[in-house]
Amino acid sequence: MTAISDNLAALLESIRAFEKKYGRDPGSVKLLAASKKQSVDSIKAAFDAGQCCFGESYLQEAAGKFSALHNLPIEWHFIGPVQSNKTRKIAEFFSWVHSVDSMRIVKRLNDQRPDHLPPLNICIEVNVSGEASKSGVLMDQVLGLALYCQNLPRIRLRGLMAIPAIHHRFDHQRQEFHKLQSLFLYLREHHFSVDTLSMGMSDDFEAAIAEGSTIVRIGTALFGRRV
Ligand SMILES: *Cc1c(COP(=O)(O)O)cnc(C)c1O
Repeated sequence: MTAISDNLAALLESIRAFEKKYGRDPGSVKLLAASKKQSVDSIKAAFDAGQCCFGESYLQEAAGKFSALHNLPIEWHFIGPVQSNKTRKIAEFFSWVHSVDSMRIVKRLNDQRPDHLPPLNICIEVNVSGEASKSGVLMDQVLGLALYCQNLPRIRLRGLMAIPAIHHRFDHQRQEFHKLQSLFLYLREHHFSVDTLSMGMSDDFEAAIAEGSTIVRIGTALFGRRV
């Protein structure tokens, strides 16, 4: 098994190479380490190698990691499904939530965000492939939810997130990400100051970077298989 520090260096090198290949500004794509089902030791190893942003998907699991790692200045992102009975803790412990998909949830996150913390950064999760089983709002619901977010002072809408259907062909991967990019550009034309496109995982991050991703969320290619 390769060391996490080696994987991290290789990943960052690939990201920089894809930025160049697709005419993106150097450093415009950030790496979020998707650390669900990975150990505290693995997170520490990645942190020691220079990784500072980590994404967790399950609140219960994340809570254990926070207490084990509270002495490290990690920026925590929530990337899993948000249940309404978990919003208070999510609003207290995370800097970002990538997976907002309803007015009800975003209102709760706003109301429960502690006053001493800066506004919670959020992305609207979009079901770009229209799969019935997937979370995320449908494409035609994005504008309504984005407008709603503008009236919530304790949250800050940063952009959009998607987990498209799995495709093995590169051009098909790109097509899915292109839909999210188009929506993102549409929001910007409508004067939303969004700056984040959270898209791309271990198996499709090249296609995501080609279509304008600004945050790739990568687990397996950094930590190895989840246990
Ligand atoms: C697990 C997960 C990832 C990372 O997936 P890999 O294929 O392991 O890179 C990215 N985003 C979300 C929302 C996830 O749950």
